[in-house]
Amino acid sequence: MCIFCQIINKELPSTIVYEDEQVIAFNDINPSADVHVLIVPKKHIDSIMELEEADEKLAGHLLTVAHKIAKEKNLKGYKLQFNVGKEGGQIIFHLHLHLLGGKVHGQV
Ligand code: 5GP
Ligand code: ZN
Repeated sequence: MCIFCQIINKELPSTIVYEDEQVIAFNDINPSADVHVLIVPKKHIDSIMELEEADEKLAGHLLTVAHKIAKEKNLKGYKLQFNVGKEGGQIIFHLHLHLLGGKVHGQV
């Protein structure tokens, strides 16, 4: 089972900032910004490349959750990023959206 699936199943610890039936969001273990949250669908999808039409609602939900978390953290602006595929800088092959806020001090 992949590392994010293990986090979703609470077999691995993480600092969860949001959770509902479809998604979980937790702090990145190696933050590249003051706020660095990963928003992850509970359904295992390798990457955006494997996204299907049936997942469109779920994909949109990631954005709504990002907005909700950003609002809670009083971010006036922020960056959202998907790394797609090895060549796109993706390391963990379980789809996730990076939410970066505050001072950015690294590359994701
Ligand atoms: P990617 O490059 O795949 O888009 O980003 C993967 C992100 O997952 C990286 O920013 C990395 O720091 C984070 N990460 C990797 N392993 C863990 C982990 O075990 N726990 C948490 N919270 N984040 C992780
Ligand atoms: Zn997974």
